[in-house]
Amino acid sequence: MSAGGHAGRDHAKLSASGAHRWLVCTPSAALEAQFPDTGSAAAAEGTLAHEIAEIKARCKCFKRGEAGYMTKAAANKKLAKLAAEELHTEEMETCTDEYAEEIYLQYLGFSEKPYVYFETRLDLTGYVPEGFGTADAILIGGGKLAICDFKYGKGVPVSPDHNPQLMLYALGALDKYGLIFPITKVILAIHQPRLQTGLATWETTPEELLAFGEYVKERAALAIVGAGEYAPGSEQCRFCRARQVCRARADHNIEMAFNAALGALPPIITAQEAGEYISRGEDVAKWLQDLKDWALGACLRGEEVPGYKAVEGRGSREWTDQAAAFKALQDGGIDEAMMYERKALTLAALEKVVGKKKFGELAGEYVEKRPGKPALVPESDKRPPITSVDKAFEGVEV
Ligand code: SF4
Repeated sequence: MSAGGHAGRDHAKLSASGAHRWLVCTPSAALEAQFPDTGSAAAAEGTLAHEIAEIKARCKCFKRGEAGYMTKAAANKKLAKLAAEELHTEEMETCTDEYAEEIYLQYLGFSEKPYVYFETRLDLTGYVPEGFGTADAILIGGGKLAICDFKYGKGVPVSPDHNPQLMLYALGALDKYGLIFPITKVILAIHQPRLQTGLATWETTPEELLAFGEYVKERAALAIVGAGEYAPGSEQCRFCRARQVCRARADHNIEMAFNAALGALPPIITAQEAGEYISRGEDVAKWLQDLKDWALGACLRGEEVPGYKAVEGRGSREWTDQAAAFKALQDGGIDEAMMYERKALTLAALEKVVGKKKFGELAGEYVEKRPGKPALVPESDKRPPITSVDKAFEGVEV
């Protein structure tokens, strides 16, 4: 598929990228269908980054004469065109360079020269009615299959470990290539350069994937007809298009927030209760914000939301002609130095402007990573736990 294929990707009713939701909450796909998929700036940005990433990865992996090879001139012409897009940034260049490099490292890691397929449409109908998906990069050789996915988002880190989207792609790839290439080992890999360094990988087997496929078939049979139980939860509801007005989510959060068992209990809550409350309230604040966003939209559309109305927010003042205003101030005797401040960019902002690679080469030796402020996260988080006791004894033999 051409680089331009990214923008034209269709969406299956039960999409692979939404599988983490409809596998858990089977009626969600049918409910979501009532709400338009409006897209977003982040999605458009992701599409552009994918187009650039694909060209760069092709140039890394294919030699002259190989199917999929792109001449340097053709690649540069396409890249120049994409670089002229409004959403293009220097950071995008760095991230896509890194992606191409990571794919090439995967390529080199095969025991024999692998076959490489970019932007490959995979038929998933063996598992999901009308299902299909498009894998960013597939590498096959020496009994190994690698499915690599480029994620340009920086909102939520995505792990390849039991990732249903990639597991579905792997099943599609096994169906497509399994008869030609015997496969015993499968690597699922995600490159999410704005949130994590390098390629995160998870290894599985065709047997584990096929067992997952059987589970998918059962869940998809329910999901395609909107059957099964609603199953609200912060993971699956986060990007669900029905999240603002879904009754199951509303009921769940009301229950979580207000229906705690009360009784004659001691005046101070225990650590056990604190953990329970935090976990119960996980999605409550997000749900309330989603609900407020929806209610504001309803008021603006002229609908009535009892007890609420839309008003004009606090405005801000803006120049109509900043250059003319500054000139008038200077003509009026205001010193130019009073009108400007010279301020260093933050480390992150400067790295973004300069580009990660160049920044590392020029100023990397002056950067040190200090530990972040302690943060409370769910037990499932991969980072090791810390305590202030650990800190106190750091470097001390006990
Ligand atoms: S908002 Fe949550 S509970 Fe409601 S349909 Fe979507 S995923 Fe299911």
